[in-house]
Amino acid sequence: MTDFAATRDAFHLPEGITYLDGNSLGPMPRHAVDRVAAMMRDQWSEMLITGWNRAGWYVQPRKVGDRIARLIGAGEGQVVMGDTLSIKVFQAVSAALRMRPGRRVILSDSGNFPSDLYVAQGLAETVGAELRVVAPEEVAAHITRDLAVLMLTEVDYRTGRRHDMAALTAAAHEAGALTVWDLAHSAGAVDVDLLGAGADFAVGCTYKYLNGGPGAPAFIWVHPDHADAARPCLQGWMGHAQPFAFEQGYAPAQGIERMRVGTPPVIALAALDAALDVWEGVDMAALRARSIELSEAFIAGVEAACPELVLHSPRDPAQRGSQVGFRHPQAYAVMQALIAQGVVGDFRAPDVLRFGFAPLYNDMEDVARAVEVLAGVLRQGLWDRPEHHRRAAVT
Ligand SMILES: *Cc1c(COP(=O)(O)O)cnc(C)c1O
Repeated sequence: MTDFAATRDAFHLPEGITYLDGNSLGPMPRHAVDRVAAMMRDQWSEMLITGWNRAGWYVQPRKVGDRIARLIGAGEGQVVMGDTLSIKVFQAVSAALRMRPGRRVILSDSGNFPSDLYVAQGLAETVGAELRVVAPEEVAAHITRDLAVLMLTEVDYRTGRRHDMAALTAAAHEAGALTVWDLAHSAGAVDVDLLGAGADFAVGCTYKYLNGGPGAPAFIWVHPDHADAARPCLQGWMGHAQPFAFEQGYAPAQGIERMRVGTPPVIALAALDAALDVWEGVDMAALRARSIELSEAFIAGVEAACPELVLHSPRDPAQRGSQVGFRHPQAYAVMQALIAQGVVGDFRAPDVLRFGFAPLYNDMEDVARAVEVLAGVLRQGLWDRPEHHRRAAVT
């Protein structure tokens, strides 16, 4: 049994705030403050350069990767941390493309996150490949024999729609292509089973449902069958077989280590490592069950109390991640009015109110309060005030 009251207690949740935005930035685990302070005080300040060996900074990207592996259905020694997700998308897609030299097509869907599409587009333009983008529900029908790589985000950042990873991976393999799965809205949100699905590459960020803090490093996973064959395109010195031999030519390290690029963000890894303590003992099937319970209760509550909102996520929970979107023509102003009352979700252009349910710390009281405040904002037209229409740089 996973004790979700205990996991909730591990976080600092500001007084008066109902936080339904863990799918953009997870809240701070209380003990992360001391962990980062200790790293600065005992390691950086006292050990200086020797910290790379004495404090294990150099091996930290693998050790933290092993802690994430369990949460995504991967094995030990298969995940490594570093860089941002956009960079890891490039690293994975370019390596996959190199493994299919006779083919030039990358297939993705229009629900994918823009950064993933931009990165793939830039890569395609650079190497003379083609990026094909189709509607999410048409992906299966577009898996053709000219595909090199199927690049998908498992859970759609806007609608919460969840792709069938096992079925699409099998179809891609049948057509001779490789798969790259972005787990940005899956890791820590749903029960991912990379090895079970037979996926080839996966990447994800750690500042959303994994609560690693703003700018926390991304992860990359390569199936063990490919780990010694995949050649990264960003051939950084930390992915070299012997980084400290300072050889002129590149030789890839064994296995997943080759996907490292440069110096890891050691301070950020300390915060992330603390955040992963909260996941110890969390059963992912129990997490998924609780996520569905929360999102189902929210949908039922909103549909009963706010008839003007239109559900923008799949109604079947099996086809949804851990977030729920509703559409409203004034979604931006509605979200600002909600935030002013302490219910924090986010707005996604052009008209979506998005609410993330993070089972580690959200509970039924959060759901009830969010429904009540949302209904009040709409009933009283509280969103239609000038201050709620002004747009900040980050929406
Ligand atoms: C959040 C998110 C990103 C963000 O990438 P960064 O490089 O970390 O800024 C990329 N892709 C997806 C699918 C996301 O949800």
